[in-house]
Amino acid sequence: MESRTIASYKTPSGQRVEIAKQSFPSVRKRPTKRVAFVSSLHGNELEGIYLCHLLIRHLKNLQQTQPEAFQGEIHIYPAVNPQAVAVGSRLSPFFSLDINRQFGGNDARSLPAQSASELLDDLKSSADIVVDFHASNLHLQEAPQIRIIDGLHKKLIPLAVQCNVDLIWVHPAAPMFESTLGYNLNQAKINTLVIEAGISLRLNKEFADQLFRGMLNLLHHTGVLTFTGSPLNIDPPVIAHPSEVVLLQSEYAGLFVGHCDLKKNIAKGEMIGEVVSATDGEVLQEVTAPASGFLFTLREHPLVYPGAPLARIALKEMDRP
Ligand SMILES: [Zn+2]
Repeated sequence: MESRTIASYKTPSGQRVEIAKQSFPSVRKRPTKRVAFVSSLHGNELEGIYLCHLLIRHLKNLQQTQPEAFQGEIHIYPAVNPQAVAVGSRLSPFFSLDINRQFGGNDARSLPAQSASELLDDLKSSADIVVDFHASNLHLQEAPQIRIIDGLHKKLIPLAVQCNVDLIWVHPAAPMFESTLGYNLNQAKINTLVIEAGISLRLNKEFADQLFRGMLNLLHHTGVLTFTGSPLNIDPPVIAHPSEVVLLQSEYAGLFVGHCDLKKNIAKGEMIGEVVSATDGEVLQEVTAPASGFLFTLREHPLVYPGAPLARIALKEMDRP
């Protein structure tokens, strides 16, 4: 494994902050493919950091036992926003800027924008395929999924199905995505998958293990790794296009109490949870599935207001419009 620092800067009190990159070179002169894994653009999303740990640990071991397995190159960037990770915040400290809204601009005058630009350049020169790990916010728990902007799906779905996620969600394009890392890499013709799993500031070991198997399978499928051993068992995901996802929202202010589990095939009419009143003992809203499908988002934070998201369901084929 080769360790490098792709960018570094000094904090006002003099410490150095470094963005680390761990690389596993190919045994071939011309690597079959070059794959990069990026984690923690958002410092409160920890699932990806753990996944990078699992990958680095596994690959270091593989390098010793089966060095010939490395037909392609692998680059891992475990914490690309180190100061935000240090305080567990989504935004870059001091600047209150979302680094994943700083890509692709011409004006890199702030430190987060400059870091974004250095990361983008490094990825462009190192990778043919990039996987960008994210977790959800503190409000919603998400099943492991890949989100693809409508229009990129034909190119990205064949790669995404190799990743052992529960769902591939093709969602409509929106201007806010244009300043993200994923969008800018895809624009530069570097196929980039954005993974979302779990909830912020927590680790879900089951999800991390599931995605770990998916990442190894992706490396195998793309010819980057050719290892021997037992086959990886990965499950085919549900694929949902923009009109095939329903969002359930709260109609009231109150407490949301969930009555079912995430990652569940739910039947029409089945109870998902209740919104209850804190003051008069009333059940304000019974939240039931409006159609059968796969429950892939579930509210974790109980405090809700009208319009607060409670759950998302990817509709089953028979319930699709
Ligand atoms: Zn994120």
